[in-house]
Parts: sequence; structure tokens; C-alpha cells
Amino acid sequence: MSYTIEQNFIPGLPKEPYDNGHYVGVIAHSTANNGDSDDGERNYESTTWQNAFVHFFVDDQKIEQAADSNYICYGAGHTANHLGYVQVELCQTADPTKFNKAYAMYTWLLAKLLYNRKISVVDGVTLMSHAQVSAKWHETNHTDPIDYLASHGKTWANLVADVAAQYMQMEEEDKVLNVAVLLFTKDDYWAGVDVAAKNGNCALFIRPSDQSVPAEAMNTKQLFVVGGPTAKHPNEVLLSGKDKYATAAMVAKYLG
Ligand SMILES: [Zn+2]
Repeated sequence: MSYTIEQNFIPGLPKEPYDNGHYVGVIAHSTANNGDSDDGERNYESTTWQNAFVHFFVDDQKIEQAADSNYICYGAGHTANHLGYVQVELCQTADPTKFNKAYAMYTWLLAKLLYNRKISVVDGVTLMSHAQVSAKWHETNHTDPIDYLASHGKTWANLVADVAAQYMQMEEEDKVLNVAVLLFTKDDYWAGVDVAAKNGNCALFIRPSDQSVPAEAMNTKQLFVVGGPTAKHPNEVLLSGKDKYATAAMVAKYLG
């Protein structure tokens, strides 16, 4: 699952770095403005940003980025803004279908921002509601997005779980295989399966008929090539003879 982020930066925003040089978490807001939109909120903030602005807006149509997340925004009080929180506003609606669409993008974006820096989903630390920020630093008195989520039957704990699930999915999608076996043809299967077994039953790939090497196989940390020519993998173990019998003999020698 992935969404497009539409960049439409408000001109003239300050470029103040975070205290740590990079962001340390995200803050989830809601706008308290039923029936609003990304564009409406962004355009409003383009004239009032000296008082307040955030980095992202999410409505049921799209994710819009109004400010560069490499720099602070003015969304949740001096301490949180400067410590370094990327801040996301959820536009509000009374329509449950629109809410569900926006909520899916909102939780995805919060997860994506955390995942981009690999800082995990830690409730109240890396992932904060504006309510938690107000309770912790007492520089604002807003309690969003708690009541708005509740109006659609969701709790803050639900949101944390949903963001964590998205984050885990991103980790899964990015996982690089440590080791895999690449077979030249199906004839090499019985030799290859023993090599895979010796390497913790790692993934097996078979070259397609054009003998190209699948990208996933090339992305592994180590690749055993069973049969056929080298795959030119940087950390390759070539177990390949001039025919399948010679290959089987090389595999037998490797297996010891
Ligand atoms: Zn807020």
C-alpha cells in the first residue's frame, strides 16, 4: 500500500532546523473544522502561517504537503515544534466513508514518516497526539484528534495500532533477503533445494527462459548460483558445472 504525496509548499515559510538536526517523531492533529479540505486548510495557513502551520494535510481525496518536513512547523507549542515533530492535520468530516478513506491515508502517512527515519512507533514518544503534547509540555491546550476519532468510533489506541501495522508492513516490504539460491533451470531443483536447506531453507529463484536474473535474487546479501553462468552477484557462490551432472557433483562437494 502506498499513496502519493502532493507537494504544494506555502511560499515564504521559515527554514528553522530542528534542535537535533532531524525530526524525532510525528504529531497527529485534526482540524476541528468539519467539511474542510487539504486545499482549504493549506490556503488558509498560507496567510496565517506566522501564527500556526503544519507540514501535511490529509482529507478523503489526497495527502497534501504544505511545508518542508526538514524544518520545524508551528503546530504544537515551542518545545515540540523545536524538538522536532513532523505534524499532520486530518481534515474532518461527518461522513463515515470519507472518514475511512482519509483515516487510511493519515495512518499510512504517520507510519511512513516514522519509517523513513526508522524511529519506530512509540506511543507518546515518536507518535504523539496533540492532546499528549498539551499534557506533556502545557504550551497548548488542544486535545485533538481524540474527540474527532471518537466521533467515528476510534480511540487513540486504535490509531497507534493502525500506524504500527502500517509500519510493520513497510518493514516487510523492505526486507532484504540474506541469502538465496538461484537455479538455472528446473532441472537444478533437487540440487538447489539441498543448498537452500543448508542455508536455513532460504528462498529459491529460477531463471526465466531468457536466462535473466530476477531482481529479488540480485538484492540478496549472498547468492548461491546452482547451474548456468555467473549472475554477477557481488557475493556469489557459483556451484555450476558444464551440465546438470557436473553441477550436481559440485553441489554434493559443497554440501560435504
Ligand atoms: Zn492540533
